[in-house]
Amino acid sequence: MHRRGFLQTMGAAAPAVAAAQQPSLKQERVEELTAPAAPAIAMNHLGFLPGARKTIIFRLTGGAAPAEFTVRDPGSSLKPFRTTRPLRKTACDFGECMTGDFSDVQAEMMCQATAGGERSVPFFIRPDVWRRTLPKAVSYHKAQRCGVAVPNVHPACHLDDARRRDTGQHLDLTGGWHDAGDLRKWMDATMMNAFGLLHLARNLGEAWDPAGSGLEPVLEEVKWGNRYFLKMQDTDGLVWADVAGGVNGDNSDNHWTDNLRGTEDDRYLNPSKGGLVQAMWIALQAMVGQVYRSTDPGYAQACLDAAVRCWRASKHEGNTRDLSWWTLAAAEMHRATGAEEYAAAAASLGAQLLGRQNAAFEGGQKSIRGYFLSRTEPRAPYAEAVYSALPPLALITLAAQFPAHPDASRWRDSVRMHLDEYILPMSSRSAYRIVPFGVFFGSPTKELYRPLAGEMTYRYFLPVRQRSWWLGTTSHLECYAALLGEAAHLFGNREYRDLAYRQLEWVMGANPFGSCLMTGEGMRNPYPHSRYVGLIIGGILNGIAGNAQDEPILDMEYGMDWRTTEYWSPHNGFYLWANSVLERA
Ligand SMILES: [Zn+2]
Repeated sequence: MHRRGFLQTMGAAAPAVAAAQQPSLKQERVEELTAPAAPAIAMNHLGFLPGARKTIIFRLTGGAAPAEFTVRDPGSSLKPFRTTRPLRKTACDFGECMTGDFSDVQAEMMCQATAGGERSVPFFIRPDVWRRTLPKAVSYHKAQRCGVAVPNVHPACHLDDARRRDTGQHLDLTGGWHDAGDLRKWMDATMMNAFGLLHLARNLGEAWDPAGSGLEPVLEEVKWGNRYFLKMQDTDGLVWADVAGGVNGDNSDNHWTDNLRGTEDDRYLNPSKGGLVQAMWIALQAMVGQVYRSTDPGYAQACLDAAVRCWRASKHEGNTRDLSWWTLAAAEMHRATGAEEYAAAAASLGAQLLGRQNAAFEGGQKSIRGYFLSRTEPRAPYAEAVYSALPPLALITLAAQFPAHPDASRWRDSVRMHLDEYILPMSSRSAYRIVPFGVFFGSPTKELYRPLAGEMTYRYFLPVRQRSWWLGTTSHLECYAALLGEAAHLFGNREYRDLAYRQLEWVMGANPFGSCLMTGEGMRNPYPHSRYVGLIIGGILNGIAGNAQDEPILDMEYGMDWRTTEYWSPHNGFYLWANSVLERA
């Protein structure tokens, strides 16, 4: 339900004062500057790597259009840096705006931009501008631990997890992580915590933390979560879905308990065994097996043995999302074991994924192609709120891991077509360069689908009238950042790297609300929907969603709107995944 009363739409910026009326920076007086309801300046609050493309967006919301912007060093050096550049009118799906470029400003410093009488959030140009956020994002996971006391967060909790929904039998399923702003322990979502940590360890190794804490805290966190994940494997090799997910899709298990087994408030195990969970779980155990091979070989082997049991008990099939995870599972099992069986499975799964890419111009248009289909029939384009870039991410993984395979050129061509003929043109439709949520044929539900060409339409945000729930697109954007980062490495293409950062910049403040979506970074953070423990440093919100008109919305008014402001494991997982790919040498 969209309650316009507390969900701010993007049109509410304070009118910008005409540039000609602005005093120079020397003359400006503090009392003349106010903090607008939504700033006209949209910039990433962290700042930029010295060599990065640097863009300022100034939203036109009724005021005069400023002709230029200034970037200056607000510090106290004797000769503070200062440069003034032109702003250019830029067509944008979210309303007309001005954009300016200062990519050539590469000196390391703290900066501030001014335009149209407004100051930006101060930001840095420095080589660790992204990396210095990683310890915060990692610390979020520890704050979400379940089954143990977490200092400053909560005392030991849920020591009575859990009883089976079907038989009532009690099993020790304590531990793991609370998934989100609530206390539930979904397997698919919380495994994303571990994937983020494992990709961080793989991509950056000991150097991940500028303060030099080394890999030990990262691996210890993985092991903490994995104690719970391993307990969730049944004797047949398959893995259960969740603890405390809610008995009938409801919220009934989302509560603190008395920590005593056998009392009324014990939470439930959902013993269903869906394909997505099996595929993710195998990929996860295979990664754990690799990262612990030298430091704890017994544990590494136990994880691999468990993964083999699950692989043998599973059917490696499903919709396009699940096939993508099966492809990654097979690739990781090959990396972990070297067994040819898994290389063959990975190639076979990759071939199936290729078959689900739409290489033709469909719907009477010649603008885009190369998107994936949700499944073979009906031929609906793939659009996923969480695992959005997984199909091409699985294929680029194969291309990097098996470069001499006969299908390697097809995997590479598939990823390039997806990026060059779908993602690049679609992301160029807004000044923010974010990747839209998906393309559609016509209007599947009664709300705005933006016309693209022919019968094809698109939305930046999830449809709100398609099903009972919808939410912000943080994971979707971060997942694309991970894909674009890998593609920049494989193809040596700078444009992919720039576009990857634009996705992360939106999350960190370059959005129409001027809001940074990570608690403890940037400014104008929404208060999170986190009703049990409140603020968690480093936690990332579901983020900006859309209304029926596909306009961006975000709860900036303490409305506890879960769809835009709830913490959720996949956002921190993909943040670490994407950033570590981009930071990798
Ligand atoms: Zn708990």
